[in-house]
Amino acid sequence: MQAWDVIVIGAGAAGLMCAAEAGKRGRRVLVLDHGKRIGRKILMSGGGRCNFTNYQVEPKAFLCANPHFVKSALARYTQWDFIALVDKHRIAFHEKTLGQLFCDDSAQNIVDMLVKECEQAGVSIRLRAEIMEVDRLGEGFMVATHGEAYSCHSLVVATGGLSMPKIGASPFGYRLAEQFGLRVLPTRAGLVPFTLQPEDKASLEPLAGVSLPVVAESEDGTRFAENLLFTHRGLSGPAVLQISSYWQPGERVCFELLPAGRLAEGVADSPNQELKTWLGRQLPKRLVEALLTREGLVNKPLKQYTPRELAAIEERLTAWSLKPGGTEGYRTAEVTLGGVDTHELSSKTMMATKVPNLYFVGEVMDVTGWLGGYNFQWAWSSGWCAGQVV
Ligand code: FAD
Repeated sequence: MQAWDVIVIGAGAAGLMCAAEAGKRGRRVLVLDHGKRIGRKILMSGGGRCNFTNYQVEPKAFLCANPHFVKSALARYTQWDFIALVDKHRIAFHEKTLGQLFCDDSAQNIVDMLVKECEQAGVSIRLRAEIMEVDRLGEGFMVATHGEAYSCHSLVVATGGLSMPKIGASPFGYRLAEQFGLRVLPTRAGLVPFTLQPEDKASLEPLAGVSLPVVAESEDGTRFAENLLFTHRGLSGPAVLQISSYWQPGERVCFELLPAGRLAEGVADSPNQELKTWLGRQLPKRLVEALLTREGLVNKPLKQYTPRELAAIEERLTAWSLKPGGTEGYRTAEVTLGGVDTHELSSKTMMATKVPNLYFVGEVMDVTGWLGGYNFQWAWSSGWCAGQVV
């Protein structure tokens, strides 16, 4: 049996960061992954340019049943630390919007950077490694793959969440946590498009391609000001992806299509204009047509509406409410909500408090960031913290 100090399962964002850090401390580190390629999710992220972090990382951008959990790691390895690493490797990047940082060239730059960091730290990486069994061995662990068995002092589980099963996502980390008696919180798809209820399809499917800025609001009062995109399958765009993480099946979502008070301004400024014409200057025309029909709005000059009618129209436009049929699920979700309960882990080291020398890093645990580079920052921060102690 080959002996290692540290075995990291998962050659993704968090696993590679952790492995490189541990290697730099002189630990003999082996990374095992069942995939054919390193960092496959990194390669597809950010439309191929990897939104690797955000200028405005703050704990409120993370969903977790244990809200203070993320604070320590995010403070110890910050977005500025990761930006310094990116600078060290001379990777050109730019801010796209809302503090989101993307590679100018390709997400491959980030994978190459992590691989180089691992190589320089003497880390070994084995791909196509199917893990058959993990067991306690003294104070450490035994990991058996299809062909070989390894022992290690510290075992780091960095197998990510369930989204995108086609590129290697698996429930391995959850099962391993359960094997060692750790609680796993129910999982569901996050940062994911909504599908439509059958009765909404006829009126909303023809809007495919329409996009507009909105404020999306979930029933718990969370709000995101971003773009809404109608698609052939339902609703997408950053506003929908963000709010999907706060949505529970059966709930409604509200969209502010027009800011409150805008209609009153219209009545004052353009009293002779018909509602449809006036709305066509505020919103995409195809959406206006659909809204008038769907919401049963009578079209006439603005001055002819009674205050009560205007209030009803204003209500529809400032809080256009819809009950999604569901989400597209893990097939297209960017992240998985839920996972290994962080109450079971040290927020400083990511070690399972009940199982010495067993660590969980990245998305496998119940920490989910907003859209915008936050999920990678969590992978870097949690991976780095474990890398200092494994
Ligand atoms: P992963 O990067 O998923 O790595 C897990 C690794 O474990 C994989 O290599 C996998 O092959 C391996 N593995 C899984 N099961 C096993 C097993 N049984 N045995 C061995 N190995 C196993 N986040 C951002 O911040 N910015 C973005 O721009 C962004 N874009 C995204 C785009 C898409 C399409 C998707 C799907 C996600 C995106 N995300 C983005 C989210 C981000 O990719 C993840 O949050 C992040 O990769 C999590 O890192 P991780 O290391 O925990 O897991």
